[in-house]
Amino acid sequence: MSAIRIDGKGLAARLKAQVRAEAESMRRKPGLAVILVGEDPASRVYVTSKRRDCEECGFYSEEYALPAASAQKELLDLVAKLNGREDIDGILVQLPLPRGLDEREVLLAIDPGKDVDCFHPYNVGQLTIGTPVFQPCTPGGVMEMLREYGIDPAEKRCVVLGRSNIVGKPMALLLLHANGTVAVCHSKTPDLEELAASADILVSAVGRTGLVTADMVKEGAVVIDVAMNRNMEGKLCGDVCFEEVSQKASYITPVPGGVGPMTRAMLMKNTLAAAKLHQRIR
Ligand code: NAP
Repeated sequence: MSAIRIDGKGLAARLKAQVRAEAESMRRKPGLAVILVGEDPASRVYVTSKRRDCEECGFYSEEYALPAASAQKELLDLVAKLNGREDIDGILVQLPLPRGLDEREVLLAIDPGKDVDCFHPYNVGQLTIGTPVFQPCTPGGVMEMLREYGIDPAEKRCVVLGRSNIVGKPMALLLLHANGTVAVCHSKTPDLEELAASADILVSAVGRTGLVTADMVKEGAVVIDVAMNRNMEGKLCGDVCFEEVSQKASYITPVPGGVGPMTRAMLMKNTLAAAKLHQRIR
């Protein structure tokens, strides 16, 4: 049996249309500021796509491109200025920052009410105790996909491959809050294959092409591939061997067209949420 492909692209388009409809009914357009430091080509692509998403959702957006040699203070001053702007609801600093800049200090400087990436320790804390202000974009997008396809993590064994602060850890928390029973694997996990094969819901966020083979997947499992790798031909692919795993899984996300578009849509949803928050307060 071949798995049902989870259509992240289609769902993201519907989500953005809902966001746009809500944004149009607000007295002021939601505003997002994106800061890019340096010339990393992948980061440039992400920033450009965020600008396009803002246009699609009817948001106001600003982009700041700083040279790689920028001083920490320059970046902190810019964040402070944006924190004080009433027309900016969300501030996003594109990561990774060039060497020499202190990422942690920059993320701490963002007003938690404008931290639409959900990276500030205040928001991570709120997420941990189950009262998130914003949904972390990538794991939040995965949860939206599960909901859309009627997949309830409750009473399911969930295995997350990867424990980064951006994907693995918040993914595990969201699944736990949805009453899943969660195991998190990383590079020092000795029995990763066995654990993966026990999962009803398997989420892979490692960044290793070909890591998840069919023998690591339980018959009928839901397989979510977060990774965005480049294969030998330079083509975008995930961690999961899509064709063979599709023969065993019940649902599977493709790469591209799965988690990626949902991450972008969730950023728009968070910016809208921030704008609602600010318009109530101000
Ligand atoms: P990361 O910070 O490099 O984390 C990778 C995680 O995988 C780490 O926890 C690492 O373990 C673990 N790992 C590495 N090799 C392993 C192995 N052989 N077996 C088991 N675990 C292993 O990466 P990330 O930022 O979380 O991103 C992960 C992937 O998701 C990347 O492909 C990235 O491009 C993609 N991504 C996609 C989206 C999207 O929107 N679709 C968003 C963000 C990231 P240790 O902690 O022990 O080192």
